[in-house]
This record gives sequence, structure tokens and C-alpha cells, in this order.
Amino acid sequence: MLDAEPGGAINRTLLDKALLPGLLTREQIALPAVEGVAVTSGEATAADLGTKTVELRDGRRLSADAVVIATGAMPRHSDGIDVAAEVALHRLHTADDADALRESIPQADGRRIAVLGAGFIGTELASHYVAEGAEVVLVGRSSTPLVSALGAEISPRLAALQRERTDARLGAAVRAITPNGARAQLSLSDGSSIEVDAVILAQGAVPATAWIGVPDGIRVDDRLRGPEGGWYAAGSAAYIASGGERLTTDHWDAAVAQGRHAARTILHDFLGGEDPGPYRPTTGFTLSAFGSTIAARGLRRPDGSERAASWPIEPPRPDAVLTEFVDAGGEVTGVAGFNAGPAVVRAAAAIA
Ligand SMILES: Cc1cc2nc3c(=O)[nH]c(=O)nc-3n(C[C@H](O)[C@H](O)[C@H](O)COP(=O)(O)OP(=O)(O)OC[C@H]3O[C@@H](n4cnc5c(N)ncnc54)[C@H](O)[C@@H]3O)c2cc1C
Repeated sequence: MLDAEPGGAINRTLLDKALLPGLLTREQIALPAVEGVAVTSGEATAADLGTKTVELRDGRRLSADAVVIATGAMPRHSDGIDVAAEVALHRLHTADDADALRESIPQADGRRIAVLGAGFIGTELASHYVAEGAEVVLVGRSSTPLVSALGAEISPRLAALQRERTDARLGAAVRAITPNGARAQLSLSDGSSIEVDAVILAQGAVPATAWIGVPDGIRVDDRLRGPEGGWYAAGSAAYIASGGERLTTDHWDAAVAQGRHAARTILHDFLGGEDPGPYRPTTGFTLSAFGSTIAARGLRRPDGSERAASWPIEPPRPDAVLTEFVDAGGEVTGVAGFNAGPAVVRAAAAIA
């Protein structure tokens, strides 16, 4: 296993939930060693598909019978924003980023922090800084954040939570960021401007696959086989092209499930193991912010519909919502819950 993570591979989901707030240390979020797997530190910078060789930045070359590309995703840049050179933009992708955030925003009390992006990471970061006593300006392009994953019932509840707890500028985009003394001034598409002490970018992620010359991610089939024999891809670096659809997921459990699936396909292709069949997305994610929990499993298909799920929500909460996503044929493809507790997991058993 080749890995370029500074300090070694980590559970990235714990960066905002545990490392940034100081609940866990870097050592505690490190991924444990896997017996029988040797880890080589180094960064892949090029690949020769024909000879199944990967070239490293330091000049080394590694060859294998089967190669799985699982290089993940990187935070999206500040595309479309005119950022003055003097303004420092923060992000959260590595343990070093978490340390840098803690150092540069040490005393959040009374500070005003802009979080650009009202999706998963932006919302959790906003919640963290609000809990620390900061004033948070949360800017999101959509007035219905994460609607494509959460559906029409739950997305407005997330937006309401964001509006209640932050200075949420939803449906707006930042046009320019200029320095103003030690502060930064944001100019928004709605004509407003606001001064902040720090700016954190959380505008989604793009596949970390530019090194192999495919910046949009590695196209794989439903067994996670890549475009050339012996090449496979899994996790946020991959997208599954199947039946005219393009499926991408940037969630931890999906990456783990896809890694397993790719391994089983390799055993099938090379050693005659059982065909694992097509990969089916049944995993999901949990978003915890402002004392509420939003969880989902499976998928919401753009051409599908949604309906209230009838599973009992225990313990009952007046604001709880449980939604089922169904495809054109009436099959349940996903489920999402707002403060619906374990009902999401139980309802997920119905995913086809
Ligand atoms: C702050 C934050 C919070 C998140 N919270 C959640 C959450 O609560 N729930 C959830 O489901 N998901 C969450 N995610 C998303 C989740 O972390 C990713 O979906 C998941 O890590 C993807 O796994 P992966 O194995 O594809 O990529 P990664 O976990 O990013 O692993 C890729 C590995 O490849 C290495 N690498 C990259 N490029 C190269 C190269 N050229 N050569 C060699 N090695 C390379 C990297 O260093 C890294 O170790 C969060 C992400 C972030 C940034």
C-alpha cells in the first residue's frame, strides 16, 4: 500500500468531529496497521497503464499485477472567487490543516468566522465554531443545502437550522475577498459585504486523480474495474458508470465498502473467486450539527421520488422526519432522517 498522507493515514471523518475540537489526538485518529500489509510512504505522480506501473515523486517505480486507485478527493479550490493575495484561506483536509486552524483561530470567542460552503463539512465546522462562541457567517450557493442527498423534506430543515444558529447567507456566492487591516472583507453576489476574522473554504471536493491525468475521477464499472485490465478504483477517487448513470460518493462507509468490493473483484479476476456482483450503494453518512443529527443510507435518485417512511422513531421527537427515496419502479433506493435516531438504520434494510 502506497500512501502520501503527511504523518500517515487517518480517519478523515474525525478531523472536524474530534481532532479540531481537541477530543482526540493525531495518534488516536491514525488508521491502525493492517496485518500483512506493508505501507510505503510516497506520492504517486504518474502511471503507465500498460505495464501497471506507478511512478513516485522521488523517482521510484512500483509495479503490480493489480492496482487499486484509492487516492480520495481534495477540497475544491476557491474557483470563481477573486481572492486578494494577502488573504489566507483555510481548509480542513489533513491533520496539519486541523492544527493550522486551531493555531490561527485560537480564541474563537467574539470572533467572526466565514465558512464558505453549507454542505456536510461546512455545516459541521459552523457548528463547531458556534459552540466555541464565535459568530459564524455561513455562505452556501443553494438555498436548499444538500437537497440532492437529503430530499425536499429534510433539506429545508437543515437550512432552517443553519439560519437559526448562524448568519446564513444561503443562495449567495462570494465574489471577492479583500484584506481590511487584519480582517478580510467578503463581497457577496447579493450585493452585501461583510468583514470577518477568518475564512474557511468548505466548497466540496474533487477527485484526487489529476496525477494520473484524469482530473474528473477514475471511471469504473459496477465491479469497480477501471478502463484498463488490472486497474481498479474505489472511494472518492472513483465514479461508477453504469446504465448511463454516473455514481460518485464521498463518504467514509462507501469508500470502505468499495475497497472491499474491488478486492473481491480482484480475487475473482485473478484467482477464480466468486464474482461479487455489481456494487450496490447501501452505505450512508451522518451529519451532526447544532445538536441535531441528519443521517442517510443508500441513494436519492434524481429521477425518483420521496415519501414519508412509516418506521417508528424511537425515542420520538417532535421535529423528527424520516424519508424514503424510491425509484421509478417503486423500489426503495435510500432513506434519510432528521433527528430520527436508529430508525434510519432500520428503514435502510428496505433498500433494494
Ligand atoms: C473534514 C472532513 C470531515 C468528513 N466527515 C465525514 C463524515 O462525517 N462522514 C463521512 O461519511 N465522510 C466524511 N468525510 C468524507 C470522507 O473522509 C471521505 O469520503 C473518505 O475519506 C474517502 O475515503 P478514500 O479512501 O476514498 O479517500 P481518503 O480517505 O482521502 O484516502 C486517500 C488516501 O490516499 C492518499 N493519496 C492521495 N493522493 C495520493 C497519491 N498521489 N499518491 C499516494 N497516496 C495518495 C491520501 O494521502 C490518503 O491517505 C469527511 C471529510 C473531511 C475532509
